[in-house]
Parts: sequence; C-alpha cells; structure tokens
Amino acid sequence: MINHHLSDEILWAYATGSLPAGHALLVSCHLELCDGCKGRLAEAEALAGAMLQTAEQQKPSDDMFDLLMARVEGEPAVPAAAYTVEPRAEKGVPSALWDVLGYGFNDIKWKMVGPGIRQFILPIKPSEGESARLLKLSPGFVTPEHSHHAQR
Ligand SMILES: [Zn+2]
Repeated sequence: MINHHLSDEILWAYATGSLPAGHALLVSCHLELCDGCKGRLAEAEALAGAMLQTAEQQKPSDDMFDLLMARVEGEPAVPAAAYTVEPRAEKGVPSALWDVLGYGFNDIKWKMVGPGIRQFILPIKPSEGESARLLKLSPGFVTPEHSHHAQR
C-alpha cells in the first residue's frame, strides 16, 4: 500500500540521473508500483531532455567535455531501464529490487532489530552517507516518524 508519493524534486533528480544509488533504487521500485508517479516522471524526463537540447545548442567550452566525463565516471549508474523491465518471478517484487536481490521477499534473511521490526541491508554499493535497507514490520506496528532526507 502506497501512502505517499515521490516529490517533484526527487523525480527531477531521478530523471537527470543525479540521485544516489540507494535513493534511485527506491524510486525505481516506487515507479513500478505507481502509475501516477510514472506519468510525472515522463513529464520530468521530457523537460530534462528539452533542457539538455538547449544546452547542446550553446557552444561548449574547451573543458566542458572533460568535466562531463569526470561527472559521468564519478556518478553511480542510475538504472534508467529498471522500471521498464517486466516484473519477474515472485509477485509483488519490483524488478529493480529483484535485480539487486536475485530472489523474492520469501527468501530474504531478515534480522531482528527490535520487537516487531526486522531489517535487511540491501547488497548495493550506496553513495557516501547513504544506506539502503528493507524493513519488515509486524502487523499493527506503527512506523516511527522519519524522513528520507540525507542526514549530514
Ligand atoms: Zn507515487
């Protein structure tokens, strides 16, 4: 059940490939399950494409290519195609998550971290200051107040 949706800022960062790896995975999974946000992503991508085209029409400076390549090589790859891949195997597992796990929810080795709460650290290489984990909450467990913003 999805209770909240991706903000414009997050969608924009995803469309332009500037989200850290863990965030991008979360966004990919949400997009597979939410047609509303998928539609908004298409708008963001169209806008990003138009802006890129405008930028290309301007004469590039000599060091622009080097700067761009440094950025490309330094950035974690955003799985742009992840949300277009057909969902596989177990029902309800977004394919972006399946790509990371290689198996479904039933085979996850959960670790208890508190009463009614289990977690699994996702085997991805997250960006600095970021972690990506799944939480499994017992029925009736109320999620503590939290944010998805980077803590620095
Ligand atoms: Zn949504």
